[in-house]
Amino acid sequence: MIPASPVIIEVAVPLPMEKTFHYLVPDTLTQQAQPGKRVFVPFGGRKLTGYVLALAQSADTSKLKEIISVLDDDPLWTDSELEFFRWVASYYLHPLGEVLKTALPAGINLQTGKGSDGTISGGQKIRFEAVYLAGDGAAPMRALGAKAVEVLELIRSEGEVPAALLRKRFGACAPQLKRLTGLGLLKKQEREIFRDPFREETVERDTPRQLNLHQQTALETLLTCLDKREFAPYLLHGVTGSGKTEVYLQAIDRALHRGMNALVLVPEISLTPQLVHRFRARFDDGIAILHSGLSDGERYDEWRRIRRGLARIVIGARSAIFAPLENIGIIVVDEEHEASFKQADGLRYNARDLSLVRGRMEQALVVLGSATPLITSLYAVEQGRLGLLSLPERVRGIPMPTVETVAMQGIKSTISPRLHRALEETLASKGQVIIFLNRRGYATFLVCAECSQPLTCPNCTVTLTYHRSRGQSVCHYCDYTVPAPGTCPSCGCPELKELGAGTERVEHDLRELLPQARIVRMDSDTTSGRGSHARLLNHMADGSADILIGTQMITKGHDFPGVTLVGVVNGEASLHMPDFRSAERTFQLLSQVFGRAGRGDTPGRVLLQALDPSHYAIQCAINHDSTDFYRQELEFRREAGYPPFAYLAVLALSGTSEQTVEQRANTTANLLMQIKHELALRVELLGPAPSPLYRLRGRFRRRILLKSASRADLRRLIAVWLSRREPGTTVREFIDIDPVDMM
Ligand code: ADP
Ligand code: ZN
Repeated sequence: MIPASPVIIEVAVPLPMEKTFHYLVPDTLTQQAQPGKRVFVPFGGRKLTGYVLALAQSADTSKLKEIISVLDDDPLWTDSELEFFRWVASYYLHPLGEVLKTALPAGINLQTGKGSDGTISGGQKIRFEAVYLAGDGAAPMRALGAKAVEVLELIRSEGEVPAALLRKRFGACAPQLKRLTGLGLLKKQEREIFRDPFREETVERDTPRQLNLHQQTALETLLTCLDKREFAPYLLHGVTGSGKTEVYLQAIDRALHRGMNALVLVPEISLTPQLVHRFRARFDDGIAILHSGLSDGERYDEWRRIRRGLARIVIGARSAIFAPLENIGIIVVDEEHEASFKQADGLRYNARDLSLVRGRMEQALVVLGSATPLITSLYAVEQGRLGLLSLPERVRGIPMPTVETVAMQGIKSTISPRLHRALEETLASKGQVIIFLNRRGYATFLVCAECSQPLTCPNCTVTLTYHRSRGQSVCHYCDYTVPAPGTCPSCGCPELKELGAGTERVEHDLRELLPQARIVRMDSDTTSGRGSHARLLNHMADGSADILIGTQMITKGHDFPGVTLVGVVNGEASLHMPDFRSAERTFQLLSQVFGRAGRGDTPGRVLLQALDPSHYAIQCAINHDSTDFYRQELEFRREAGYPPFAYLAVLALSGTSEQTVEQRANTTANLLMQIKHELALRVELLGPAPSPLYRLRGRFRRRILLKSASRADLRRLIAVWLSRREPGTTVREFIDIDPVDMM
């Protein structure tokens, strides 16, 4: 007899290591140990949750350890999803086990077992409920008693009834249920329940709009691609209010009719209420949402609904790119220019970029939509790597708003007399107003009247923002808080001056100027509670607020037809950041803010307060001229050697001792330089230099910027460095591929 050859599997563990590992599967587990499932494995002296990637071969099995148990009944992922995750791990140079862990909803991740008994803890409970169904048995009804007959009749007419509902209706009825079940008249089943994030909301049905000519042209192209079922990447460049969402909805409708599923990525939770609402009004059941506002339990339930094929449309923030949705026919990335598609820690992936990768693997249509696309997207169009669909006009012929600049030289107040007058006029004609300011808090910061020192954070290199209603100065990075106004920490002077204005200050000033106006403020100070976003936005939607004041949170995708005036308090605020994208961001931000005005029947008006509005980013936004902005910005990128003319990576280091960080940064830079020369790689190394925010949450930060026209060379350099670097340092090091946050 030939002994059966042992079963070996390849397992990824969620630890910072590039390798995967081979394990033996004991005979009792061979049926269960399949790719895509989690297994409990011995690792070093510990026990860990690992992920089965594939069946494997190994010449020498004598050194292999056995897995302890298989944790899932069904695979969590399909083979093609595992292939996608392998791609992600390799591109971002991130351990596959950690990628897989990131891809799972928080509720499902089991913690490493600490005890020797292999106990596992920390998983989210799957909840079940008992339901009763009519059985096949026939029995003499007379012998049952009145209550049992009533119970039986209800269940027969309803098909199935949860036990909890029966108790509510009939009071204690366990004996009757037991009897009916015993007679075969009823069956009892345990049913999985999914927590429903929409439970409090009802939606009115909505039907597809008659498209205008531009929308129709765009839609037809998309439908043709859908019918071919092949990878087709498109940029849908449509001005604000041009009806992009309507195009998504109708394209998705076609995909569903063709039996394919849809994945929709949106930037942030603040955007989701309105957009999700529009989807739910258009499509019947089968919508799952995934975003950070859900509880772990809800998230896990949504994830399982998707895995089971119970949701055909998935809408979510960046992590939804990892949703276990099969048979994807279309991926929509709404507001593709948004920085929040990039994950800022751990696996630093960009969901916008990954949508193209997953779309290619799934042979899907990918639609990147924006009124202000990324410079790199427009360049990809020029290069023929992305198809272009334009919606150059607003729907129903609504004109773009007119933008006037208000020169702020010599004006001390936050609201200029001209903006004040425009506010009064608008309110008198029953219009609504949005006031935009990209700073929360009351004063930007406090400055000593005596020695002119600003109040700064002891942990971070930033000034503290003064919040008047809380009576505190707060660090917006680490939350360091001091009572304020206090005394100057440098010279002890008790007099501190307020400098600059935040949203809280603007609200205060507006309430003084316009005591009758109904004002709401939306920034991260007023929206921390669950559902608070939606509540604030509802005040605008139902007309119970006249003025909405807010930070960039209000610039995104909201459609309030009543808004006829938009005021921008400090037009150049975002322009002078030490970041090569600051012009692009400013153009995007201003265009989006302007786009909130005049989406209804009354034309919109924008007043932009600024000291110096001459920069091309501001001028192009004022003229709604994205072509001119693209031309000028591309020129700047070419000269400075930034994307799309170079690929970037950042190697960032941080630690609590400045000296140690500096030493390690120098060692790292030297090693990189050595590898670069050895392998003749065309990569430019800049730094190490202190990060613009050189101290953050008590940690000193340095970084090395890697630039190259060759993605392959850049990756090679980092991969070789990862394999050669000396471990055992207290300094934290991480790689950020295609960095977005340059601070
Ligand atoms: P965008 O996503 O480009 O900002 P939306 O899709 O939100 O634009 O459309 C703006 C508004 O116009 C929405 O209220 C939408 O229902 C409406 N709309 C879209 N397309 C049409 C159309 N063809 N005819 C009439 N109204 C439309
Ligand atoms: Zn701080």
